[in-house]
Amino acid sequence: MSDGSSLPPLRDVINTYGLRAEKSLGQNFLLDLNLTGRIARCPGNLQGETVLEIGPGPGGLTRAILAAGAKRLVAIEKDTRCLAALEEVSKAFENRLTVHNEDALEIDEAELVGEKAHIIANLPYNVATPLLIKWLKKREDFKSMTLMFQKEVADRITAEPRTKAYGRLSIISQWLCHVSRQFDISPKAFTPPPKVVSTVVKLVPRDQPAFPADLNTLERVVGAAFGQRRKMLRASLKSLGGNAEEILNSAGILPTKRAEELSVEEFCRLSEVYRTR
Ligand code: SAM
Repeated sequence: MSDGSSLPPLRDVINTYGLRAEKSLGQNFLLDLNLTGRIARCPGNLQGETVLEIGPGPGGLTRAILAAGAKRLVAIEKDTRCLAALEEVSKAFENRLTVHNEDALEIDEAELVGEKAHIIANLPYNVATPLLIKWLKKREDFKSMTLMFQKEVADRITAEPRTKAYGRLSIISQWLCHVSRQFDISPKAFTPPPKVVSTVVKLVPRDQPAFPADLNTLERVVGAAFGQRRKMLRASLKSLGGNAEEILNSAGILPTKRAEELSVEEFCRLSEVYRTR
């Protein structure tokens, strides 16, 4: 099986195809082969697996995923300038790579891939959170998601109650997935270097959400609670209508608590009371 060793160094690819980084596309390219290899190993053994990569750019992480043994890699890249470079990668890896020139926010992943896949991506920061929310809602289509975010977003995804980073993204992600931080990557590893540290996070969809709840109701309750995160819940939940104090009591939650003190389980319990009222 080809290992891509015949391909030119990534810096040469960037020069040959004139891939000057576009800020509007969140382009910070990762050229360090140790790091791309490390990211590709996060989902576990990729032999015989299908992977969806978002934003392959010049193809550094793409090469690492294919070299790790993925039987098939479907990549979505918005920037047409990258397509010729990716075509070279596809040839070097015996056509295991298919590239779609699309906007990842617009695609139907299940239709393009046609089977359950691992997502691996060094995400463009400007669309990372909407993409994560989109995938969480379709989690049954994915075996795992290994995603690079700016560190602050990774902090929010993995945060525990009673911390500043804890909020909507922590609750929804942890309710639907097993979430684990993998490692940080310094700005120096990228070309050009971004202003912030990056963190790789792995999310493995749960067979069932961690606790019974309805996503829309849970999002409404969490949104109201954290919309006024310094207030006690009996005040912040007033915007949802009804007697907040009574609802909190029937969920077994002290009405004087604040949003960040509630566990994911407590938020689910509370949203079930709202839903069934
Ligand atoms: N994977 C490459 C790497 O690790 O060096 C590039 C990562 S760079 C942070 C983000 C990539 O996503 C860029 O190639 C950019 O063109 C692409 N991109 C940005 N917005 C996109 C979108 N909405 N849909 C698909 N690709 C997008």
